Amino acid sequence: MTVDPLVERMRPFGTTIFSEMSALALRTGAINLGQGFPDTDGPPEMLAAATQALASGANQYPPLPGIPALRHAIADHEQRFWSLTRDPDTEVVVTAGATEAVAAAILALCEPGDEVVCFEPYYDSYAASITLAGAVRRPVTLRPAVGGRYEFDEAELRAAFGPRTRLVLLNTPHNPTGKVFTGEELALIAGLCGEYDTYAVTDEVYEHLVFDGVHIPLATLPGMRERTLRISSAGKTFSCTGWKVGWATGPARLVSAVQRVKQFLTFVNASPLQPAVAVALGLPDAYFAGFNAGLRANRDRLTAGLTAAGFEVFPSHGTYFVTADIRPLGGTDGIEFCRELPGRVGVVAVPTQVFYDHQDAGRHLIRFAFCKRPEVIDQAADRLKAY
Ligand SMILES: *Cc1c(COP(=O)(O)O)cnc(C)c1O
Repeated sequence: MTVDPLVERMRPFGTTIFSEMSALALRTGAINLGQGFPDTDGPPEMLAAATQALASGANQYPPLPGIPALRHAIADHEQRFWSLTRDPDTEVVVTAGATEAVAAAILALCEPGDEVVCFEPYYDSYAASITLAGAVRRPVTLRPAVGGRYEFDEAELRAAFGPRTRLVLLNTPHNPTGKVFTGEELALIAGLCGEYDTYAVTDEVYEHLVFDGVHIPLATLPGMRERTLRISSAGKTFSCTGWKVGWATGPARLVSAVQRVKQFLTFVNASPLQPAVAVALGLPDAYFAGFNAGLRANRDRLTAGLTAAGFEVFPSHGTYFVTADIRPLGGTDGIEFCRELPGRVGVVAVPTQVFYDHQDAGRHLIRFAFCKRPEVIDQAADRLKAY
């Protein structure tokens, strides 16, 4: 058997760029600003709660929708920060990270041939999940506009909607661009959801990492609560990306659809970590403010370093990431540039062109993560200056 056993529709999806670049970082000893994981641990109260849960028997299957304490904490957190009221028993489901929530939502809602409107560059699992469902993606391109802010063209967004549109998949704050969708942009999206009677699935894993402007959940816009599944995760907010504890919230019929698919993907996960995430979600406002302030300072530090190294840097208004144009340094292709960068100066970045269907739009753009200790960011910036 010489043929590739992988089903045809998944063949375009190779090893993720993160695995390739992280392996390169290990091999070369370069500083890894590629993959977005923090190099410090999350809140000690959360870690202590996990240790205690592990030692006190929380090691068997938790209930399918998640343990009650966590579902209550998720509902309380949404009320506290976004004034969204959720019934913890019917409007909240715990998932194996935001990744599973997105996959389960798409598999639950899309028939083969249905269309999903999304924004490119997109988080890499989106394209794969849409393809697994047999659905079709309709990407709308985000491009740096005047001042470097990523924007989309209204006509392009309108043209992406049609009779087969089933849902809009929106990530704000946006990875990899650091874009925070404005109230005006969200109103436009909400209007089209109403006009075409579609669902919205929102990935808000960076909900606490907005540095300029404010985070507005799409579900809070008029008419959107009833048609929106809101997804988030503990990984980014509490610096525990390896825990994979995420959730989806929304009207009971949408949450129930997600749950019915999710039960046959993983069934349940992370039993001893669920009570710990419940503790973390209940931390005082000072935790969330301090976490934001730390990342904002890192954003400023890395932005200054990249600018000094000669990149054109696009302002990041949120998330763990900042993007830059390599052309001022003589680069033309981000993939080539990122493959060479560790050998040349000992830093790993990620080319964002792999997150576009229209790859030309992102050919010269690369992404750096600033969820690292300040001294690591400074060292990376020093090395990049030698480029
Ligand atoms: C990191 C990330 C995720 C994955 O979250 P998990 O909880 O680790 O599955 C999903 N969406 C975006 C935009 C991310 O950056």
